[in-house]
Amino acid sequence: YKRQIVDEATSDLDPLGKREVLEVIEQLREESKSTVVIVDHNTDDLARFADRLVVLDGGRVVLEGDPRYVFSMARELEAVGVRVPQIAALASKLGVTDGALPLAVDEAVRILAPLKHRLALRTAQNGTGTRGPSIAEFIDVWYEYEDGTVALRSLNLKIFEGDFLAIVGPNGSGKTTMAKLLTGLLKPSRGVVKVLGLDTKTSRPSQLARLVGYVFQNPDHQLICDTVEDEIAFPLRSLGFSEEEIRKRVEWALKVVGLEGVRREPPFFLSKGEKQRLALATVLAVGPKLLVVDEPTTGQDERCSRMIMDALRGLNERGVTVVMITHDMRLVCEYAKRVAILRGGELVAEGVPREVFERLFDTLEEMGLGAPPLAKLMKKLLGKPAFTVGEVEVNG
Ligand code: ADP
Repeated sequence: YKRQIVDEATSDLDPLGKREVLEVIEQLREESKSTVVIVDHNTDDLARFADRLVVLDGGRVVLEGDPRYVFSMARELEAVGVRVPQIAALASKLGVTDGALPLAVDEAVRILAPLKHRLALRTAQNGTGTRGPSIAEFIDVWYEYEDGTVALRSLNLKIFEGDFLAIVGPNGSGKTTMAKLLTGLLKPSRGVVKVLGLDTKTSRPSQLARLVGYVFQNPDHQLICDTVEDEIAFPLRSLGFSEEEIRKRVEWALKVVGLEGVRREPPFFLSKGEKQRLALATVLAVGPKLLVVDEPTTGQDERCSRMIMDALRGLNERGVTVVMITHDMRLVCEYAKRVAILRGGELVAEGVPREVFERLFDTLEEMGLGAPPLAKLMKKLLGKPAFTVGEVEVNG
């Protein structure tokens, strides 16, 4: 092929898988001198691979050119919901922009080293990791699929009331299986899963349906009605809420996810991001005590990601316990109170996100997680990783 078009091909992969695919594309391009067009939301990856960037909004080209130039335009990018790569954002804060803007870790180390005396790390945490009464518990849980695949091995984990727990791990590590066990969709092969005091093996599905909300990774699997409003009302009707209550809840849920403007549209025609938010709304409206969301920001632009994450945080502040599967360490550090790392069906670590990621920093790659570029940069500059730009204080 002399041309390759890659449309969000890597959005469902874990960070290492993503990098591998991009490296293969890069290699093919070099060998065959072909032209590659990549469509993606992940600016951290694009920054390293692209020669030229085109930023679209509403069908128009709003910015175009060398990545160093485009990523210097922080304000314009923010206006259209595109995230500046972390390294570029930090460099801009230090006054390094345009042609000198670093995009990859090694060049950033070189360019920013003389300025490192102006950098310091803030150690803000989202609390110290919630403890207290547990809302759900895995007790020596094993899960084996019919074909003999053992997806979880001897999993022991407590989820506390008011927790915002992120579950991370490479593709195939058992995250979705864990989520499905929490919602009662799957029952453990061995061991016990307790949710709100109920043993999921013996409780009726309807008992859990009101208490535990599950937002699938692919929203197409859960959208079935003719309009957005009906979609949100559907589970409420089947749970027997009054029409007045349904109206109130539908309004509230539409507002939380910012979909008031498309209430009468058929869900089928919504964008991927809108579908994801609608799937979240249908679950929120029921008022679950425990909300399980599988990769809520996959394939979403920065603005939609923020909207979803802020909605989750708002619910968590109002007492809903949130369990979120994600590959995005940046989001974990910014939003989650605790993190659990899975690998090959086993729990390898659990605790406050920054502490856990820092402690395991040197093994993150090996575990298939891969550290974000900013974390690698700060580790090299200051000896300690930072996972969000907000954690880095810029002085002088
Ligand atoms: P993750 O969410 O971390 O990507 P999963 O929980 O989906 O991991 O999968 C864990 C393991 O179980 C993987 O090896 C996967 O291939 C396997 N698996 C998942 N679903 C099924 C299924 N329906 N039948 C057989 N094996 C499955």
